[in-house]
Amino acid sequence: MAGLAIITEACIDVKDRACVDVCPVQCIYEFDPQKNVLFSEVQAGQGVENTHQPNPDAVAIFADSLLYVNLDECTSCTACYQQDVCPVGAIYSEEHLPNGSTRTEYNKADPNRGHDHTFFIELSRSVFAD
Ligand code: SF4
Ligand code: SF4
Repeated sequence: MAGLAIITEACIDVKDRACVDVCPVQCIYEFDPQKNVLFSEVQAGQGVENTHQPNPDAVAIFADSLLYVNLDECTSCTACYQQDVCPVGAIYSEEHLPNGSTRTEYNKADPNRGHDHTFFIELSRSVFAD
């Protein structure tokens, strides 16, 4: 489906949850390492709305340092990737995802982390186990 939202590495360690507040279907998830569950909220900090089980290998890469869009639930409504939502420009529609390979890779020393932005399309799909 065109317009699926992809969260990329600029979210890492920013994670202010501004996108959570504008998503009408609660499909933007955070990983809770203590409970080993992915959860979404209607508004950030207001309590769990939906949950999913994480794929252990995929969630281990960035764990709770960024948020994840469930692409099976995203309706491509466009709300979260409007310019005034994410303070660091971390969210793109899938077809407008820039190829980050011309910029510094996230972490060249770690083969699990050195990726261009297209990596995050695959991560968005693989992090959800159910
Ligand atoms: S495009 Fe809409 S439905 Fe999809 S994650 Fe963003 S706000 Fe949620
Ligand atoms: S608005 Fe941007 S930085 Fe904030 S949680 Fe969402 S993707 Fe991350």
